[in-house]
Amino acid sequence: MKRLCFILLFAFGLQLGAQNLEPKIIAYNTLVGAITGGIGSMINKRKEQKWHKAFAKGFVIGAGGGAMVYSGKKLNSLIAQKQKLSYGWVSRAVFSAGNSIVENAAANRLFWSQWHYDVGFIRLEYKTKENSLIPRFMPSTFGGLLFMAYHSTSFDYRTSLRSGTFTFYTDKIRYEPRLVGSTASNGFLFTDTLTGGKIFYDTYAHEMVHAFQFHEFSGINHFFDKPSAKLQQKYPLYKKLSKWIYIDASYESMLVNYFIINQGPKGKLYCRNYLENEAEFLSVRRCACIP
Ligand SMILES: [Zn+2]
Repeated sequence: MKRLCFILLFAFGLQLGAQNLEPKIIAYNTLVGAITGGIGSMINKRKEQKWHKAFAKGFVIGAGGGAMVYSGKKLNSLIAQKQKLSYGWVSRAVFSAGNSIVENAAANRLFWSQWHYDVGFIRLEYKTKENSLIPRFMPSTFGGLLFMAYHSTSFDYRTSLRSGTFTFYTDKIRYEPRLVGSTASNGFLFTDTLTGGKIFYDTYAHEMVHAFQFHEFSGINHFFDKPSAKLQQKYPLYKKLSKWIYIDASYESMLVNYFIINQGPKGKLYCRNYLENEAEFLSVRRCACIP
């Protein structure tokens, strides 16, 4: 009985700890959307707009987008629960919608004016006013995918199609040998031992959250809208290229957040790394490390 009580208390304690992560995760995602939306909107304010009004508008719309970003990340739990990779297309649709709203807020334009959906290193961009769909190349995301392709032995096109996310395989992840799965961009590198069963789907859902984290700072990309517009006026070639190339500074922002701010993924710091805890909690409702 004593033992049973101990087990119950232990389980309850763990659950309490786990439950406490949810408000933190909601606050983090909402604030990332709100702050990047607010700052971007202020930078891109129109001449007649007051700076504090532009900030407030971007902050509120960005917060709404950020809340949607959180919902999209959380939908990855369905991959683990139902053991079906196709939920990755659904979670990405919700995540991208939220991400688009944050970008619209940061660009100081109508919140429904532009939507995007990322497939690998291609960003499919839909502009509502022009009713146009343009594929744009993301150089940093592409670089990250090349890095994973270089460290892989095969590309699993079936799994990639099922989840809507590039999936590579190797015998051993040489840049971090203790891992069985790694996300270095909008794609994954898994070891050959990870091909099915609960652990495969749990890991896949976790890595999907990381893939989304690589885009969550995309509001920052709009901090450079004004200098970019000036360059487009000056250089027609740059203008032409800008139509097809999307500078994804959000990728580098994620690297700074993961490796500098969160000090991942080494040793004990892995367990305290917010981004690891978010990925594990939203996919399988556990902390990154069992306490
Ligand atoms: Zn992770």
